[in-house]
Amino acid sequence: MKKRVLITGASRGIGKATAIMLAQQGYDVVINYRSGQQAAEEVLAEILAQGGSGQLLPFDISDRAQVQQAIESDMTEHGVYYAVVCNAGVHSDNAFPAMEPEQWDSVLSTNLDGFYNVLHPVVMPMVRQRQPGRIVTLSSVSGVRGNRGQVNYSAAKAGIIGATKALALELAKRKITVNCVAPGLIDTDMTEAVSEQLLTEIPAKRAGLADEVAATIAFLLSPSAAYITRQVICVDGGLSG
Ligand code: NDP
Repeated sequence: MKKRVLITGASRGIGKATAIMLAQQGYDVVINYRSGQQAAEEVLAEILAQGGSGQLLPFDISDRAQVQQAIESDMTEHGVYYAVVCNAGVHSDNAFPAMEPEQWDSVLSTNLDGFYNVLHPVVMPMVRQRQPGRIVTLSSVSGVRGNRGQVNYSAAKAGIIGATKALALELAKRKITVNCVAPGLIDTDMTEAVSEQLLTEIPAKRAGLADEVAATIAFLLSPSAAYITRQVICVDGGLSG
């Protein structure tokens, strides 16, 4: 039996790279997306063409009832997850005085409430399996050190770090590790509008690749990482060090 892994936001960017890499490593991947159905179908087609296995599971991580319904029926039909990668996220940047209430609410309800909405339905079934398990969350350098123009996003991403560390404490003796990956500037749709100035601030002097984040996530899912929990691992070319 292949180990099942749910990856939220796997239609594009880091989530897509993670789904493809994990499928290549023999996991059965569950590809979540919100609206990009065609993109998600293309990810699944690429995985199947490479001899991997996976399924699509659309839901909006900010919609608690929808997430619970989708995840519970998926687990009933196909089995409980070995691992969950909470990757889906959005940003809506503005200087704080100009930040609209909707910008605050949408970023918090997706990025931070998404942690609860996705993980709450899966944690007890994972515990009841009495098997090793993995949870990986995605924070950001913005959550580690704060970013100008991203008070909402920094708040949500810092909240994810706190939630990850607390959940790691609750699950450590159950052999379920809970870790956070904090990317710096990664070349995806989310960072299309990044200035050259920001690149000069990165010690490595370049943006990172989605595959470089995916490889870190894949390592955390591997048996070799069984004793690593409650950590924040920055993949950021030295930006937050
Ligand atoms: P992208 O914008 O490239 O992709 C975002 C993915 O999340 C898409 O698959 C999108 O699906 C999905 N998504 C967005 N909102 C929801 C939602 N409400 N419910 C379900 N799925 C949703 O993002 P990245 O790959 O760049 O980022 C991935 C993660 O890494 C995020 O958490 C981000 O905050 C974090 N990160 C990224 C950095 C970067 O430089 N790129 C830096 C630091 C952190 P759909 O298209 O269907 O809406």
